[in-house]
Amino acid sequence: MPAERIDGVAIAAKVRAQVAADAAALIAEGVVPGLTVVLVGDDPASAVYVASKEKACTAAGMRGETIRLPATTPEGELLAVIDRLNADPAVHGILVQMPVPRHIDAQQVIRRIDPRKDVDGFHPVNAGKVLIGDADGFAPCTPAGVQVMLVESGVETAGKEAVILGRSTIVGKPMAALLIQSGKGADCTVTICHSRTTNLAAHTRRADILIAAIGKPEMVTADMVKPGAVVIDVGINRVEDPGAPKGYRIVGDVKYDDVAQVASKITPVPGGVGPMTIAMLLANTVRAARLAHGR
Ligand code: NDP
Repeated sequence: MPAERIDGVAIAAKVRAQVAADAAALIAEGVVPGLTVVLVGDDPASAVYVASKEKACTAAGMRGETIRLPATTPEGELLAVIDRLNADPAVHGILVQMPVPRHIDAQQVIRRIDPRKDVDGFHPVNAGKVLIGDADGFAPCTPAGVQVMLVESGVETAGKEAVILGRSTIVGKPMAALLIQSGKGADCTVTICHSRTTNLAAHTRRADILIAAIGKPEMVTADMVKPGAVVIDVGINRVEDPGAPKGYRIVGDVKYDDVAQVASKITPVPGGVGPMTIAMLLANTVRAARLAHGR
């Protein structure tokens, strides 16, 4: 029987409805949750991401602002903008859209953001809080969204073998940190694999929950998946397709049609993890606003 498709669009809509309700409750108390996104340069993909973040904020009744800076902005000037936002009580969440131009040190930028406003969850303070299981921390939006998807789709995680492909600081590592905590959507036994892992398939075949975040189009094939496993595909890859209207199409890291014959549940690409990322950004921003006002 083909796997059940986990609908990221529907789960994200549920998260966003809750965010809108939480935002409305805060607004009734005189606090308008606000997210400021800083975009340096004119990368077209980044411009699209930033516009969708601002739109999502507004749709949830929150204040969404974008500060656009030229690609030539010196690092010091960007840091000064962050300092100003850190000090502004109307700004609850700050996000600097990555990648920043090469002359700017991204780590320096991330570290400059007040951890209480770091709704991307990239600051080392938040990475540490997520690792120790401190509920005060902000988890990066993509792995946090995956965890919500597991819970919302009724996946039992306790005691399960979770295998994560990819060890990036924005997906793989925080995903592992979330799944090893005790509690809902967690309590897993976690393995992280990366490009130096030998015999990758031996690891993936053990997985009750397989999470792919490697950025390699359709690399995970059916023979790598244990029958009945839950497969979460984080990958977003553009592949050439002369037959497609734009000349390309978007695929994940998992060969969906084949793996769906083996897995019990699976996320599609697009329409899986992607929509969860913005939903979790909004959720983090509302929580930042609540914490800032002692609610
Ligand atoms: P990175 O490039 O930062 O990390 C990729 C990871 O995959 C690395 O740890 C790398 O190992 C590992 N890897 C690469 N090739 C292999 C291989 N053949 N076997 C095993 N491991 C391998 O990517 P990100 O974590 O930023 O993103 C991963 C994917 O998720 C991308 O497709 C990205 O577009 C997508 N993404 C989607 C989001 C969403 O909202 N849905 C958000 C963020 C990312 P090593 O460390 O050894 O190099």
